Amino acid sequence: HENILAAAKSRQDFTANVSHELKTPITAISGYAELIENRLIDSEAEVHVASQIRHNADRLLSLVTDIIQLSELDHRELPRKFEQLDLFSVARECVNEHVLMASQRNIKLICSGTSAGINADRRLVREMIDNLLQNAIRYNKENGTVKVHVTIENGHPMISVEDTGIGIPMEHQNRIFERFYRVDKSRSKETGGTGLGLAIVKHIVAQHDAELNLESTPGEGTKITVSFPVYQG
Ligand code: ATP
Ligand code: MG
Repeated sequence: HENILAAAKSRQDFTANVSHELKTPITAISGYAELIENRLIDSEAEVHVASQIRHNADRLLSLVTDIIQLSELDHRELPRKFEQLDLFSVARECVNEHVLMASQRNIKLICSGTSAGINADRRLVREMIDNLLQNAIRYNKENGTVKVHVTIENGHPMISVEDTGIGIPMEHQNRIFERFYRVDKSRSKETGGTGLGLAIVKHIVAQHDAELNLESTPGEGTKITVSFPVYQG
């Protein structure tokens, strides 16, 4: 009974958060359109207004994408496609796709480790690693480093994503996996964060019977490790 009440409450919170997050960019776009409609934008301000509209549209797009992804994970609508994968080669693929994003921030990206077989859904595992990488780059410092490492420990395939970034204060460490939770709302918003990435990660980890571990020191960096079940081949 209590579980049902808690689930209803969390659905209500989620809906309230979604409405709030969606309203902000929509209101901005509508406001800029109104200015144009009333011919209040001179040619000088035109470019600025256009870029604001695009910025808000991009934000809306990433919000909608994340929300759809979460809702698919919630409802298990998509059939899971579990197959034998090498965690190390999936990690390398994801790392390669982030080279540009990292170089734009002067961040060194390192991928190391050994092959490790897992039974997993490729699309979901990529989504999980992408989200961890994005965070490790986004919440890093100028000239920082991101290390992705794959190993097998006591039979458990493991991947860790470690950064030399801003870190997460102790009192927030339990909460960052909640939907829409952001440590520093202003910084995260300015860099485009929605607060859904780690909620998606947590979901994907659960779907693979894997385990999540977080170690973080403010001002020094963060290391997130995902440990998969012992591989049966
Ligand atoms: P999104 O991933 O949806 O674009 P986001 O990055 O804000 O937005 P999460 O990935 O869920 O959302 O992360 C939640 C919060 O946890 C972030 O806003 C940030 O404050 C903090 N955080 C996550 N990863 C790190 C990290 N590697 N270093 C420091 N803080 C982090
Ligand atoms: Mg994120």
